[in-house]
Amino acid sequence: MSRLVLNSESLNKVLEGKEISKNDAYQIYKISTDYPSALFQAAQILRNKNHSNLVTFSKKAFFNIVNLCRDTCSYCTYKAEPNESKLSMMAKSEVLQLSKLAKKHHCVEALFVTGERPEQKYSEAKNWLKSNGYQSTAEYLVHCSEIALSEGLFPHTNAGNLTKSEMKNLKKTNVSMGVMLENVSQRLSEKNMPHNLAPSKNPKARLQVLENAGILGIPMTTGLLVGIGETPFEIIDSIFAIKKIHNKFGNIQEIILQNFQPKPDTAMKDFPSTQENYFKMIVALTRIIIPQMNIQIPPNLSPNSYQSFLSVGINDWGGVSPLTPDYVNPEFSWPEITKIENNSEKAGFKLKARFPVYPEFFNFVNPELKEKMSAIKDDDNLVMERYWK
Ligand code: SF4
Repeated sequence: MSRLVLNSESLNKVLEGKEISKNDAYQIYKISTDYPSALFQAAQILRNKNHSNLVTFSKKAFFNIVNLCRDTCSYCTYKAEPNESKLSMMAKSEVLQLSKLAKKHHCVEALFVTGERPEQKYSEAKNWLKSNGYQSTAEYLVHCSEIALSEGLFPHTNAGNLTKSEMKNLKKTNVSMGVMLENVSQRLSEKNMPHNLAPSKNPKARLQVLENAGILGIPMTTGLLVGIGETPFEIIDSIFAIKKIHNKFGNIQEIILQNFQPKPDTAMKDFPSTQENYFKMIVALTRIIIPQMNIQIPPNLSPNSYQSFLSVGINDWGGVSPLTPDYVNPEFSWPEITKIENNSEKAGFKLKARFPVYPEFFNFVNPELKEKMSAIKDDDNLVMERYWK
């Protein structure tokens, strides 16, 4: 393979199929700050080598179970207080109704999202759960997942730091689960930093969840929030922390890279949005640090330029819903699937729908769930085109 214009031994090492060290990655970042094109080119080569010309997405319905959250992250607009209108717990009947509607629209994924253990802080949540016969939000999620599964959807739960036994229970109905690492830096939990009031975002706690999922054989989606006051080196450390877990358990199916966008009602409302070039460098670095990984950026957070990320290393657009809003980023609606498809094609890529579990992680999934997926899966373990289109 031809050597790149950039005189970087480390970058050429990647293209020769060798692993790079953290120091190599730091060096590549430093050199690329002024001349990123060689880094982008290397990321694209590795992306195409590992994922050909395919780009995937998951056709989903977003089940927003409860916005109450025990923690407070300075950038979050999802969390609500009991006096706000978005307080109430999504009832079982609403879960059933949305599941039926989602199935009618040929959605595949049921994404279940909650705040972090709301019942530990709010009597409203605790009482609601108790009166409905549940001890915890996690226990309720098991039932919600059963409902969605019985209606023909495939659950994926992201409910913060679940315990090992909670994850074990959810594994029976969930084909994969997710928890964002956000960043591995302890510094971001210090005073005046975004995770200071969010103990669940302590990197040790998050890494433990990913490790537990590894022990349980659960395909995990994780990711980083880019542009919240971290240094580029802390991001590189975070990518290596995810890589370490994946090397140990082989269960990290995907890394989401999310660019920070300030929300008007949050403590970080005046913090600048993540610069696009910096974000692209982080995407490209992730690709060269873990070349085979599935790397996702949400298209709604870069509405005018998302297709350009295909040339710096991504191979997935994440969950896109034709029905429900992005409750985590409510001001950014998802583009229509046909628009994503057209833009992907214009950039030279073929859009395919995947399950909430990526094809190469099917061997982690319970046989009963695999059996259910077989009704709509194609020969590549993706969703049949005639089903989702
Ligand atoms: S980002 Fe998650 S943990 Fe942090 S406040 Fe929002 S809902 Fe809670």
